[in-house]
Amino acid sequence: DLVSAAAPLPSVSKSNIEHRWSDITSYTTKKKVQSWFQLPNGNWELARIVKTAGSESVISLPDGKVLNVNSDSLIPANPDILDGVDDLMQLSYLNEPSVLFDLQYRYSRDMIYTKAGPVLVAINPFKKVSLYGNNYIEAYKNKSIESPHVYAIADTAIREMTQDEVNQSIIISGESGAGKTETAKIAMQYLAALGGGIGIEYEILKTNPILEAFGNAKTLRNDNSSRFGKLIEIHFSETGKISGAKIQTFLLEKSRVVQCAEGERSYHIFYQLCAGAPRTLREKLNLKDVNEYKYLNQSNCYAITGMDDAEQFHIVKEALDIVHVSEEDQESVFAMLAAVLWLGNISFNMIDNENHVEAVADESLINVAQLIGCETVDLNLALSTRKMRVGHDNIIQKLTLSQAIDTRDALAKSIYACLFEWLVEQINKSLAVGKRRTGRSISILDIYGFESFGRNSFEQFCINYANERLQQHFNRHLFKLEQEEYIQDGIDWAKVDFDDNQDCLNLFEKKPLGLLSLLDEESTFPNGTDITFANKLKQHLNSNPCFRGEREKAFTVSHFAGEVTYDTTGFLEKNRDLLHLDSIQLLSLCSCHLPQIFASNMLNQSEKAVVGPLHKAGGADSQKLSVATKFKQLRCCGVLEVVRISRSGFPSRMSHQKFARRYGFLLLENVASQDPLSVSVAILHQFNILPEMYQVGYTKLFFRTGQIGILEDTRNHTL
Ligand code: ADP
Ligand code: MG
Repeated sequence: DLVSAAAPLPSVSKSNIEHRWSDITSYTTKKKVQSWFQLPNGNWELARIVKTAGSESVISLPDGKVLNVNSDSLIPANPDILDGVDDLMQLSYLNEPSVLFDLQYRYSRDMIYTKAGPVLVAINPFKKVSLYGNNYIEAYKNKSIESPHVYAIADTAIREMTQDEVNQSIIISGESGAGKTETAKIAMQYLAALGGGIGIEYEILKTNPILEAFGNAKTLRNDNSSRFGKLIEIHFSETGKISGAKIQTFLLEKSRVVQCAEGERSYHIFYQLCAGAPRTLREKLNLKDVNEYKYLNQSNCYAITGMDDAEQFHIVKEALDIVHVSEEDQESVFAMLAAVLWLGNISFNMIDNENHVEAVADESLINVAQLIGCETVDLNLALSTRKMRVGHDNIIQKLTLSQAIDTRDALAKSIYACLFEWLVEQINKSLAVGKRRTGRSISILDIYGFESFGRNSFEQFCINYANERLQQHFNRHLFKLEQEEYIQDGIDWAKVDFDDNQDCLNLFEKKPLGLLSLLDEESTFPNGTDITFANKLKQHLNSNPCFRGEREKAFTVSHFAGEVTYDTTGFLEKNRDLLHLDSIQLLSLCSCHLPQIFASNMLNQSEKAVVGPLHKAGGADSQKLSVATKFKQLRCCGVLEVVRISRSGFPSRMSHQKFARRYGFLLLENVASQDPLSVSVAILHQFNILPEMYQVGYTKLFFRTGQIGILEDTRNHTL
């Protein structure tokens, strides 16, 4: 079984390297070795080692400063020939500053894509880069370009799907704003271009504006942040043409419909509708300007720079036409949106001195009733009372102001979530794969990335759990790929250990004493509260190394990407996600314009909401020799995990031939046999490379991290 290590990145074996370095310096004149040194402000500087004596080193920094430092604080830097390599696996020294330096080196030259073994790292350029379009698609198709690219990934997926007859998945992960959704679209573009971009391919691409209008919103972090997860399965016919597609969505952030933070927006479609609806539609729906709706005016943010909501409305309508949503259904969709907006304006009056309320019979109430197709009396009852069964009797309980507001908001959220689901269903009908399935498909997964804020709630808990699972899938996949290569080359597999995040997943998934089971159990207890839940966690999970109880109602989980403290306030309520029966009955009886699916979906609602303000992350510092320490970006999307996994094996590989050619001239004595393997072994011996530092395969030599760097340094100094 795999062992978990949530520890920070292990560093290079320092004692060994130090020893080697002094060897090298004496071996090769007085040329200085470079290494990374972290300044107190967290930035890394490329330092030259002037002298090493015992555990102390004298280093000089680019600004001329000379420092006396502990040698352990120095992280080896790669030889200059490795600057900007397009696969991080080629680095001799795999450590954070080296990885960051490589990515930054490339990024500053608009090379936003870099490989990390089987993984593609994409760094958001936040500007137009000329890497896309038909010429590039052609070039990747006929392999005249080799640099890392999403197109290359999509191309590999197609090739392996066809050759191996195995379905493929492209998984895109990263923090919010990292560029996942754009990347998914770029991959879809490549796949669509294969079919000439007309017909079903065109329809598939047109699903983007619809899903983005209804599922994306401006957050502090990203003006077009997707607030749902998406899996799109693209099916291919035997001739390699796209035959259809299927979209699955997850965890739409329903709470955004009724609440959003200062400076953020609700879903784009509300603003698009208010700005772009033609006059007849405006009149039919009694539409007002955005600032007249409470759900939209609470965050003081209406417009997005560079986005024309009115124009966008027409693009969305056109896309709805393309995926065959009828004019009539489109109108119903807009009516439901208007109903949601008007719901937010419904207010309540106190009717007795026990805080009980009823809805104010103003235009908001009248409009909602009219739009969803029920009587105002029934709507008012559904919002201000709750039927309860006590023994054999039905009693009617009046609601207090806060209960009524919760009921109103729950109704708005449900209508919106159902609308979203209904739209996805319509899209799927339109893209449906014909009867003659070949069963071959490429899936693209675009979900939220890991989230960690000042205050983390149930939404982050769900998102981070999903990411923890994804990470495990990823680790295991990588592990398998590595394993296959070792086995193929006859390497002793037992000498390679890998880490896993199984401990953290156990914390979530173990039955009956895991976070999820305990949450579900507590949610079914009538007397369960967030406090009793938090106490249960502390009582049962305190011995788990990934768990820590915190003061009051909080707890901390050690995730692969770092520690996150969750506040359990609202956990039970959100986990139960109740829409009271009264509201459901109201909706199933009313004559709302959308087909019946709508009401029946409402009855099976079991979805969970996702909210959360987003924070800003810093970009990379572009100064040549200093690498900013904004690792989080990296840690969260698992780049360093890839590196970490690879480091724990034998990440550097070179064929016997190449190795003999490259370092053979360094041999001090003649080797009896000139075959590449014998020459290679002689080099290994001459350099005293310890047996545990390498493995000799049938065709390649496999090295632990850092070994090639040592040889490379010597080679450079000798040349
Ligand atoms: P995520 O889905 O990870 O939250 P998005 O894909 O929405 O992030 O990207 C956020 C923004 O970053 C986009 O709206 C776009 O402006 C910019 N962006 C992302 N990828 C690229 C790219 N490859 N080229 C240019 N701009 C990009
Ligand atoms: Mg997105």
